[in-house]
Amino acid sequence: MKLLYNAHIHTQDPAYPAGSAIVIDRERIIAVGEANNLLPQYPNAEKQNMDGGVILPGLTDAHLHLRNYALGLQKVDCETDTKEECLRRLEEWIKKAKPGEWILGHGWNQNVWDSPRPLGEGSGVRGWPTASDLDAIAPNNPVYLTAKSLHASWANTAALKLAGITSQTPNPQNGQIQRDEEGNVTGILLETAAYLVESVIPEPDIDEIADAMEKAQSILWKLGLTGIHDFDRRDSFMALQRLHAQGRLKLRVLKNIPVDLLDQAHELGLSSGFGDDWLRIGSVKAFMDGALGPHTAAMFQPYIGDENNRGILNMDGEELFEHGRKAAQVGLAMTVHAIGDRANHEVLNAYEQLRAYENENHMPARRHRIEHVQVLHPDDVHRLGKLNIIASMQPIHATSDMFMADAFWGERARLAYAWRTQLENGVVLAFGSDAPVESPNPFLGLHAAVTRRRADGSPSADGWYPAQKLTMAEAWEGFTLGPAYAANMENRLGRLAPNYLADLIVLDASQDPFTCNADDLLAMRSSATMIGGEWVWQA
Ligand SMILES: [Zn+2]
Repeated sequence: MKLLYNAHIHTQDPAYPAGSAIVIDRERIIAVGEANNLLPQYPNAEKQNMDGGVILPGLTDAHLHLRNYALGLQKVDCETDTKEECLRRLEEWIKKAKPGEWILGHGWNQNVWDSPRPLGEGSGVRGWPTASDLDAIAPNNPVYLTAKSLHASWANTAALKLAGITSQTPNPQNGQIQRDEEGNVTGILLETAAYLVESVIPEPDIDEIADAMEKAQSILWKLGLTGIHDFDRRDSFMALQRLHAQGRLKLRVLKNIPVDLLDQAHELGLSSGFGDDWLRIGSVKAFMDGALGPHTAAMFQPYIGDENNRGILNMDGEELFEHGRKAAQVGLAMTVHAIGDRANHEVLNAYEQLRAYENENHMPARRHRIEHVQVLHPDDVHRLGKLNIIASMQPIHATSDMFMADAFWGERARLAYAWRTQLENGVVLAFGSDAPVESPNPFLGLHAAVTRRRADGSPSADGWYPAQKLTMAEAWEGFTLGPAYAANMENRLGRLAPNYLADLIVLDASQDPFTCNADDLLAMRSSATMIGGEWVWQA
């Protein structure tokens, strides 16, 4: 039994919102209150003085790709100001690598690097890096580095050799193997030419993924996360099961299933909630449309400046309802990626039918959700609330995308990333990051949710569509109780109250997110993280 005292505890329990001491027995909280009452009541508890630290419920990221995030951490970060710095980082990494091991990296951008080399020097094309840059530091390891744009890759000679690329290799369709004036391969592969190398990079096996996830998990603890909802696929699920079986999984994970495996899940009779408090089945994940940046999010009206383009709708509401019905028959909830107003409209139509179907068949109303809910048509604004659909949103997307949203959606952006509007319609918000698309740091999301501003202060002190700003309490709920509700765990997760799982974080006494300056959130980190009653991280 543990008794933490001399703390400033925000419980998120309306019955008892604040306290200075908390008692934990094995994995559960048994009491929250004042030290002078609890200390004499639990004389045998192991006491820990928290030095005035702030204790809060641990945060959950309701939309994260754990496999991709974890494997991404094993790539060299090539987002540097100069090519020399990038090569220096690679050299460091290569020193520790086994001969023949692939060296992967991401993030370079030749446009931000120093002046292009003088004409005639080297064998490359002006401005671009070359295979020989890499050969000099990696003669024995294949190296493959994707550009920040993901439209170009940079490989060394060993990697080109393994891929069988020579000066004779023809360009693939929609791709280009860059060549110098003499026709020699430079090491730069554009668009689909990248697959020539990617197809020979060995896929990590389940143990390698599990190891990468274990490392990622310790980073997430430091960021204050005690749970995630995972959107990666089979090998992510297998690696998570392996970690769990080996007692290495110390993160609450809700695992979603891709819709193309719905038939198998249906055959098997798999239901939402199967598993335990560490690893459990969430919903069936479908995709309704694309994204804002490439103009593939499905819209009712065209993109500004792209007058014939309304994006791409993957299916209509009817087809989605058929998936939903099949899922409902085995007790699986649905979750659907929808960005554009048309895509959200079709998902809501399907959910309307699905609610009627659940009702007619005396089935429980499942915790269906929409991922992103990026922009809604004015006529659809009230429908999530009416249908009791969870809005799984990523506050950081609003500040990342705001200039694009203004440019491509114009006045429609008024109802974009509109979490306050949803909250006012009674919708449960489940916040996340979509990492590795964005950083998984929830404090950046909290900052975006309460300020609608970037870290650099843009677009203005008041923020982008400031009416959509949340209070810290509302934003914190979006990262705690909201995801807990989506996982059907709100009776034991997301608050600090008796019988709840002891998942909590500690912030320094000077870092109370409820009283600090909003910009202080940007540098906030957990100084200690407890999951299931166990300290998994202490600074
Ligand atoms: Zn995602």
